[in-house]
This record gives sequence, C-alpha cells and structure tokens, in this order.
Amino acid sequence: MLNSALRNFARVNYHGIRRAVRHAKNKFTDRAPKLIVLAYHRVLPETGDNLLNTAVSVKTFSKQIESISKNMKILPLSEAAAKSGGRLPGDGIIAALTFDDAYSDNYSVVFPLLKKKGISASFFVPTGYAGKDIPMWDYEVVERISRSGVERIEAGDYRQQRRVNESGLSFAFRVFNDLKSRDFHIIDEALTFLRRKTPGIGPGMGRCMSWEEIKELSEAGMEIGSHAVTHRSLARIPLPEAAGEIRRSKADIEEKTGAACLHFAFPFGSRLDYNSALVDEVRKAGYSTCILNIHGYNRADPGIFTFKRIIMEEHTDTRFILG
Ligand SMILES: [Zn+2]
Repeated sequence: MLNSALRNFARVNYHGIRRAVRHAKNKFTDRAPKLIVLAYHRVLPETGDNLLNTAVSVKTFSKQIESISKNMKILPLSEAAAKSGGRLPGDGIIAALTFDDAYSDNYSVVFPLLKKKGISASFFVPTGYAGKDIPMWDYEVVERISRSGVERIEAGDYRQQRRVNESGLSFAFRVFNDLKSRDFHIIDEALTFLRRKTPGIGPGMGRCMSWEEIKELSEAGMEIGSHAVTHRSLARIPLPEAAGEIRRSKADIEEKTGAACLHFAFPFGSRLDYNSALVDEVRKAGYSTCILNIHGYNRADPGIFTFKRIIMEEHTDTRFILG
C-alpha cells in the first residue's frame, strides 16, 4: 500500500516536473496565438479505482475550471475555432472545454456547474449509447473482467484466454484493445458472456445521457458533437462502416436536438484510431471541426480543421497547461 502510494507520488511528480519544464519552454519560445482544447470524460463525486483513467473528481474539476477561467477566456468550441483565424483576445490564449462519452454525470454534475459560471462546453455523444441506460461496451468489458477474475471468454467464435502471469487488469485491457476493431456483434456476444459470468458486477457502472438530457444541454447553449455510433476505433474497422458512423451520428444528433452538429471527436482519438481518409470523411460529412486525442495545444490558423487536446486528469496542474 505504502509502496504503491510512493510510486504514485513519484510518478505524479515526475510528470508534473516534465510538464512544468515543457510549459515554460512553450510559453517563452512560442508567442503565436493559441487555442487550447481541454478533454474531459466523466466528473464524479469520488474517482475511486478509475480503471480507464477517465474520471476527475467534482472537487478537482471545480478547482481546474476556476483556475482556467481566471487565466484565459473559455469560449464555445465553434466560436474558439472560428476565432483561431484572427486575433485572439487577452494574452492570445483561448480555451474550449470538451467532454467525451456523454455519461450521465455530464448532465447531473458538469452541466449545473458550467451553467452557474456561464461557460459553454461541447459534449461528444456516441449515439448508439444515448438513451440506452447502459455504460459503453469498453467500460463494461474492463470493469467486468478486471473486477471478477474471469480468465476465459468463449462467445460464439470469439475466444480469449488469460495468459500465465498476466494480471486481471492486463487481461481486461488486452480484450478491450482487441474488441475495438471487431464487428459489433462480436462485442455484443462477448458482453452477453461476461454479464452471465459476472452477475454481481453491474450497478454503479453508469449510463450515457438520455436524448432528453442531451436536448436540454443543447437548448441551454451547450454544443453537442458526435463521438461516432458504436465507440470503436474507426481506423481499424472497414472504411465504409466508419464513414457510415460519421454521417449517421451527425444526422441523429441534428434530428434529436434540432441544432447543427458541427464537431466530431474520434473515439479513443490516438494516432492508431484515425487516418487522413477518415479525416476527409469527417470534412465531407459537413462537420466544421475534427477533434483528436493527440496531446498539445493548437496554433491559431485560419485553415485549421483537426485539433489537438490537453487530456485533463485528476493530477493535471492547470498552471502548466501548455506543457
Ligand atoms: Zn470516447
């Protein structure tokens, strides 16, 4: 216990110091106007085990927003993106807030907080999960395997076996990474198998927002973006299927909210999860911005279409946001 606390302390400090150094370097060597897109997922009362590292506590979130809004202007993403071609206000840095995965805490926790502060953010919805009252498949797979000790998955033709000396958590992540590129019926079968094997695990995993909640966000001035339909790695599934998800999710959001869906965020969003053909599909579908999970800030540029982000975590120090 003490060992892991010490390791965590050392890790946080190592990353903190690296970040501070990079921040100072970027701040003083790059005077160009910048647009910072912050990436959040879930905001929860307590972050608990947080296996996918996608949760920030309410306390930390409030502190981070307080500090960021003191130091830079926070604009809605479409406004920030439109401004990035011209002169930026203040010291030339603007920020936009984004939330991926559309979990219900975005509605119950984040929305009231932002409303109180008069801040608009963008929420990226995996449309296949909106209003379904279930967590996303990846979250459920990792939770069910790592918390139950399941060592084997036999679902239809799909087979996975925990390796000798492989931890439950490593096995869970190996299955999760493998399923990202599978046909969705295989993911469904794997989940049915896991639900049967781990009946005690279930409550408390959360759910995505309902369409009523999403519409309420939209009507209150929040921007609703697309996070595809099935939350798989679009670069690893057939291109026509990925292109279909890019288009269908936009149409669904526009129909359900009555507002234009201008932003697309790739699920997972690393270099393995998108490519130039897919970015073209996003452009052709009529989106005005394409959001990645590549770490960094964006230099203001009139032609900018793809945006890097700063991934916000419990230990992110907002003083070093350019790091
Ligand atoms: Zn996501």
